[in-house]
Amino acid sequence: MQLYNKLSAKERAALIEEAGEDRLTLSFYAYAKIGNPELFRNYLFIAWDQMGVLGRIYVAHEGINAQLSVPAQNFDTFKKFLDEIYFLENVRLNIAIEHDAKAFLKLKVKVRKKIVSDGLNDASFDVTNRGIHVDAEKFNALLEDPDTVLVDMRNHYESEIGHFRGAITPDVDTFRDSLPIIEEDLKDYKEDKNLVMYCTGGIRCEKASAYYKHKGFKKVFQLEGGIIEYARQVEKQKLENKFIGKNFVFDHRRSERISEDVIAHCHQCGKPCDTHVNCANEACHLLFIQCEDCAMEMNNCCSEDCMKTNSLPYEAQKELRKGKGNSNKIFKKGRSKFLKYKS
Ligand SMILES: [Zn+2]
Ligand SMILES: [Zn+2]
Repeated sequence: MQLYNKLSAKERAALIEEAGEDRLTLSFYAYAKIGNPELFRNYLFIAWDQMGVLGRIYVAHEGINAQLSVPAQNFDTFKKFLDEIYFLENVRLNIAIEHDAKAFLKLKVKVRKKIVSDGLNDASFDVTNRGIHVDAEKFNALLEDPDTVLVDMRNHYESEIGHFRGAITPDVDTFRDSLPIIEEDLKDYKEDKNLVMYCTGGIRCEKASAYYKHKGFKKVFQLEGGIIEYARQVEKQKLENKFIGKNFVFDHRRSERISEDVIAHCHQCGKPCDTHVNCANEACHLLFIQCEDCAMEMNNCCSEDCMKTNSLPYEAQKELRKGKGNSNKIFKKGRSKFLKYKS
């Protein structure tokens, strides 16, 4: 039985283009005790492959975290399938506001130690003792309260292109790094302030809110379904939108525009821009913000060095990379001494 993809990403892209079918982009997660993640993984792969699901799904002993797209006509089958798994019955699906048939090109279901890639390895607190979930309307009301401290639980390259007005946006590279920093900054607020947090789809706040409660914060709230669900509710219920800019997402779209404001700058020339790209030099692959003019001028590269490397024939580039290890393992996001305008 076929348990992995046999089509390449390119072949998939061509297939989707041809089919021209509408796909829904969505994400969900659940903490649950999964006895045999490998078995569960295979079960999901077989079923979802048949439904034409594409995406990136992490399965671990602690639960599941899924970002995926489903052909619209198979959505009901997909939903029914989820509802038949006891810990996924009625799981909240975060549906993207913009759909892109090419958001995902393959179905990848991976067994991991943790379901959040830069998550905590801390068994000292109870993850289920989390903060109070609030919807968009309650969240907006909380932001009006002068006793509220709002914290963005995402990383620097995410909040750089979009965040809630007035949020604290820690300058961190990973979720793990952010927790102690925020705790130190907010230590005087444990008793009486509302600690309100948000992230992309809500999963990081599940753990973060439990962590801060464990650390003695009394009033902890989290935006249910994260920015993705907030944007949907704001649109549907005609609420005031307090999010400015773009929501960074972890698929080929890279972001969803939530408001027309452009709050970031091209890292090379400094003009307003909020388009993330990866450096065209495969060995670098740096994630950074680049405007169209700079992309032209720099051949989609982050630096003169990368331009030079990238202009070499492929074989010569491969030769240069030899012995330097896998560049993706040292994947650096949005930080480089060559980027003049990265604050
Ligand atoms: Zn520029
Ligand atoms: Zn580069």
